[in-house]
Amino acid sequence: MDFNRSFLDGMVGVGDMILLHTLSEDSLLENLKERFQHDEIYTYIGNVVISVNPYKQLSIYTPEKVEEYRNCNLYQLKPHIYAVADDAYQSLRDRDRDQCILITGESGAGKTEASKLVMSYVAAVCGKGAEVNQVKEQLLQSNPVLEAFGNAKTIRNDNSSRFGKYMDIEFDFKGDPVGGVISNYLLEKSRVVKHVKGERSFHIFYQLLAGGGAELLGQLKLTPDCAKYVYLNKNASSLTGMNDAENFKTVKEAMKIIGFSDSEVVAILKIVAVVLKLGNIEIKGQYQANGMASCYIPDVKDLKEISSLIGMDASTLETAFSVRTVEAKQERVETTLNAAQGAYARDALAKNMYDRLFSWLVQRINESIKVSEFQGKKVMGVLDIYGFEILEENSFEQFIINYCNEKLQQIFIQMTLKEEQEEYAREGIEWTRIDFFDNEIICKLIEDVTYDTHGFLDKNNDLLYRDLSQAMWKAKHELLKSLFPEGDPKNTSLKRPPTVSFQFKGSVSTLMKNLYAKNPNYIRCLKPNGTKLSSVFDDSLVRTQVRYLGLLENVRVRRAGYAYRQEYKSFLERYKMLSKKTWPKFSGDPRDGVRAMLSDPEVSIASEELAYGRTKLFIRTPSTLFDLEEKRRRK
Ligand code: ATP
Ligand code: MG
Repeated sequence: MDFNRSFLDGMVGVGDMILLHTLSEDSLLENLKERFQHDEIYTYIGNVVISVNPYKQLSIYTPEKVEEYRNCNLYQLKPHIYAVADDAYQSLRDRDRDQCILITGESGAGKTEASKLVMSYVAAVCGKGAEVNQVKEQLLQSNPVLEAFGNAKTIRNDNSSRFGKYMDIEFDFKGDPVGGVISNYLLEKSRVVKHVKGERSFHIFYQLLAGGGAELLGQLKLTPDCAKYVYLNKNASSLTGMNDAENFKTVKEAMKIIGFSDSEVVAILKIVAVVLKLGNIEIKGQYQANGMASCYIPDVKDLKEISSLIGMDASTLETAFSVRTVEAKQERVETTLNAAQGAYARDALAKNMYDRLFSWLVQRINESIKVSEFQGKKVMGVLDIYGFEILEENSFEQFIINYCNEKLQQIFIQMTLKEEQEEYAREGIEWTRIDFFDNEIICKLIEDVTYDTHGFLDKNNDLLYRDLSQAMWKAKHELLKSLFPEGDPKNTSLKRPPTVSFQFKGSVSTLMKNLYAKNPNYIRCLKPNGTKLSSVFDDSLVRTQVRYLGLLENVRVRRAGYAYRQEYKSFLERYKMLSKKTWPKFSGDPRDGVRAMLSDPEVSIASEELAYGRTKLFIRTPSTLFDLEEKRRRK
């Protein structure tokens, strides 16, 4: 399919960058800006859609809009994310091609919103009936749950995804959704214990405190006051425009729909409460008689409450914070921890507990939405990975995030070229190799960025003393216990897990292979300004993004061979009035009609401008198309 419809009357700027009169970075930016100022936030580059975050609600996502794009005469419609979603879905359903929707852009650019728009569009247009509707609901409701546990307010984005997400939505042969699988990538777990000024920890903590109500909070031994919790009370706690209590209801409702039982929900929230309370355990240092530094917990109230929440002996937990067992060769040596080490152990436990809970949640959701083996499947994958970030302090997490984005950019380049090549091959048109893309821009960007390597190795090794896992494994709280399988004495021979970066590299490479096997659809999100304002278009900020997303190169690739292509039937429909041979009606193969029309001396298009593919007409330069439009207008 093609999106080159941008020459329509009443269009602001051009709806497809391929049709820019002169192509340059400036003209590309100018077009985006003009369109943005008229609330036209979507613009195509061929079949790639660029989306500029409007930072306000636009009335372009109504059920009526869905209908428009669904029964589309796409020719008449403005660029829209729905068009891309529709194209992907139709190609999956009718041509049996697995699809992936790759959504990229920096933090706050609108990736997560875009992924939800794609999901809700597909849900609206596919299948009907009680069973299908239940599947749809479960798939959609995974969003609020994962956002509550995996998103947080950051300086750049009030609802920033702090984990990477890839979701395969699976369909049967009719194109009805039957289920899905979610993969999660590296949650930024350090946020549990620390966040910078003006940011928050994960939403769920605030939601639970604000919306839990006296009874539940009592059961969890929590008070509703955020300021009482060390892990939260560093700066901003409430958020304008975000109703934590209301959102908590949404999350609980979503969990119910997905199929979480009441007792599971309580078990999950208990772990959330425990994580929160761990931060309040104060650890003090002291010297033992033999001069060795050690630590102790002066006030055991929280320790006791935690122990009772997870069904464990308080002294077991206390010991785990103050002693470390080191196994060297055949020997087991117990060393005492000093105050700093004790606090480190406590924070490590909180982070690991939360991180494992998050992965468990994803698995639990997968249990509910998984597809039975025998259902024939076609797959649509939606990738919403954390955006590229350059912060003042770039730590291990940023390094990992940026690495992933670089890989995605590589795959974008490869796939754009590959796709173009394949289309030419399919249509029987000769292909000339183009080397337009250059990943240097993004690689350089990653090298511009300096990383704070303090704690880098630590985070990479992800240290959790075995004493802590062993203590957790003793808990009566079944879910918690299951999160620490290496704490089982039977498993002491388990090797140390591979480092975080090693694991991540592995999962990114699996992901890339997976994406590469599918038909890609791109949504490239741009952030108009750094202040979350609805009407400000910051040229230099957008320019930077346009550069590292390689948008200009993308347009060049599309224009290098044949800039414009259109299926014969719709092309003929639009231009048939240009020739008597085809007006008012051409009965016969549309391909012959197009040929007859374009070879009419009245129309006179140079033959080297045209290539007749199997199903589409290809036009080399945009100006030829403008000529045709002009002729059409004068008729
Ligand atoms: P991160 O990498 O930090 O997760 P992101 O690219 O996923 O960022 P989003 O969370 O999707 O960014 O968008 C940030 C905010 O921008 C949203 O919470 C919403 O307020 C606004 N926004 C994004 N897209 C749209 C849209 N299409 N219409 C209206 N508002 C939007
Ligand atoms: Mg996001």
